[in-house]
Amino acid sequence: MFEKTGIPSKEMVMGKFPSIERINKGPVAVIECYKEIPCNPCETACKFDAINIGEDINTIPAVTSDNCTGCAICLTKCPGLAIMIVDGSKSETTVLIKIPYEFLPLPKVGDTVMGLDREGRHITDVKIVGVLNPKSFDRTPIVTVEAGRKYLYDLRNIKVEAK
Ligand code: SF4
Ligand code: SF4
Repeated sequence: MFEKTGIPSKEMVMGKFPSIERINKGPVAVIECYKEIPCNPCETACKFDAINIGEDINTIPAVTSDNCTGCAICLTKCPGLAIMIVDGSKSETTVLIKIPYEFLPLPKVGDTVMGLDREGRHITDVKIVGVLNPKSFDRTPIVTVEAGRKYLYDLRNIKVEAK
């Protein structure tokens, strides 16, 4: 399915997530880079030695979750919008998920919007708890959503209705 649609299988997705124990400790990057491509802005952006690509720029990035602070700089630098930050430390019932979001309009803090899975299906509604829009053309806006814990591994995007 991935080769035809670009949509990763559940197994591929799960292989990119750190343990739930690590997620519950605080924010951590999930890097959904599945293909060997010549790209490395995530690695060069990370000041904490948490992303390693190595000598061959085509290598899929490896994440050392224990080094990751969840700063999200890599998220803003990834041209493939492949990175999100997940944080299970704030609540036993919800998780915070930072996603790259390059559509307009941007949502506003306090909005409730549609939460979508990797196939674009509406799986739940999520609350917007943060919006960071760097005024620089080489940075991607970051939207932070609060979602029910059961959507941690499925939620990947949002849909904001224009008003
Ligand atoms: S979130 Fe920050 S510390 Fe973690 S991998 Fe990305 S740049 Fe490195
Ligand atoms: S910047 Fe994004 S697309 Fe490029 S290697 Fe890193 S995660 Fe993959």
